[in-house]
Amino acid sequence: MRTHIDIELQQLAEVLMSNKVGGVVAIDPKTGGILTMVSGPNYNPNDLSGSEGSKNFSRMQLDVSGPMLNRAIAGRYEPGSTYKPLGALIALNEKVITSSWGYPCGGRYTLCGHGKPECTHKGGGHAANVRLAIANSCNAYFAHIYRLTVDNPRYKNVYEGYLHWKEYMNAFGLGVRLGVDLPNENTGGIPDTVVYNRENAGHWNSCTNLTLGIGQDKMQTTPLQMANAMCVIANKGYYYTPHFVKEIEGETERDQEKLGRFSERHDVLTNIPDVVFNEVIEGMSDVVKVGTAQGAQIQGVEVCAKTGTAENYTILDRQRVKLPNNSMFVCFAPKENPRIAIAVFVQNAGFGATWAAPIARILLEKYLLDTLTAKSKLDSARIAGTNLMPSYFKRLQYKEDSIRAFKWFQVTKDSSYIDRFSQINVPDYSLPHPHNNKTNHNLPVWMSILSAALLPKSNFENLHSYTA
Ligand SMILES: [Zn+2]
Repeated sequence: MRTHIDIELQQLAEVLMSNKVGGVVAIDPKTGGILTMVSGPNYNPNDLSGSEGSKNFSRMQLDVSGPMLNRAIAGRYEPGSTYKPLGALIALNEKVITSSWGYPCGGRYTLCGHGKPECTHKGGGHAANVRLAIANSCNAYFAHIYRLTVDNPRYKNVYEGYLHWKEYMNAFGLGVRLGVDLPNENTGGIPDTVVYNRENAGHWNSCTNLTLGIGQDKMQTTPLQMANAMCVIANKGYYYTPHFVKEIEGETERDQEKLGRFSERHDVLTNIPDVVFNEVIEGMSDVVKVGTAQGAQIQGVEVCAKTGTAENYTILDRQRVKLPNNSMFVCFAPKENPRIAIAVFVQNAGFGATWAAPIARILLEKYLLDTLTAKSKLDSARIAGTNLMPSYFKRLQYKEDSIRAFKWFQVTKDSSYIDRFSQINVPDYSLPHPHNNKTNHNLPVWMSILSAALLPKSNFENLHSYTA
């Protein structure tokens, strides 16, 4: 059996994602072939065989960091601003805006009465047309064009308008299962009107869920879905079902049947004129040239991309705790005749431009140029050597384990497990923050050396106002 996996790219992506929670997916838009898929934290498949196999399996199943969950296909994330190119495409195609339409954003969206969402930019015409709005990731602009889309007078009411918008989402492969050749793919979530009706006693309008326009509210996607959505834009309207298997030696008729569906082209949005796609593609190119992801520039390659940063909360000890933001990046390249589309999601890592964007750039360089620039080698070492595992996992693990021990005691009166917990100190309840860690010994030598050299600079968080 042969797969589409590019082994060197795969290994590089695994190294970059070590000690991180999230997912990376790279697809060849021309075939739907999956070039790379990584889910973090990872585990060594060898640990599951041999004499320790079943013990390791139990341990991994109880591990709160979820090493056995393939987050690339089953991690549900708000796409945040990585959704915006899709929103622009829909609004342009629905003719509720033109490409030169602008929004006078003064730093927040005021037309729903609560001044939200806020924008990281103020004035200066940062959303004076669709390309600028994408490049600067203006929240007010995208919240408004979402509203224009679902309030389109062509439809009877907002409910109908919303369902029409949802059809676009499904066409992009969001909120549906794509059919990758792996089990347990998640559908993500694009809610039906039923959900909003139920929550709002049947009365809601486009202000109720306006943050759908910036990839939030109840929108949930997987890294696989966002990489595939990039393929749709790169191909100007179609995709092939993402898949690993390229061919099976001595193919039987049954194999052919199974593989046949992967060569079927899905013309989901080819009805949208190329000029509309081109506007969005130019905007995504501007993101890298002059916008929020200039760190993703590659000499001689025109990269089209969008950054994303999403807020993140969890319930810990019955309190709602704000975690560091999720860092996201979606892209395809080159602009003409794209050969690769990538989605990178890193949980609790901070701004999209700080972690996810350089990971994607390094992978693009490796795949398109077959080499890494000096800057990318340095970045690789920095990223691979940085531990972004959320620190609250420790606290959570302690809680889960001790509750389990207590339940065991209740049932069996065997106190040996619970005794263990009375002897260890409760890990302190410090708020999670990314921290650097010792050198990872699985790294290539040059990376280990560079990581060690770089480690004293512990804070790589970029404090510039990178947008969403
Ligand atoms: Zn703005």
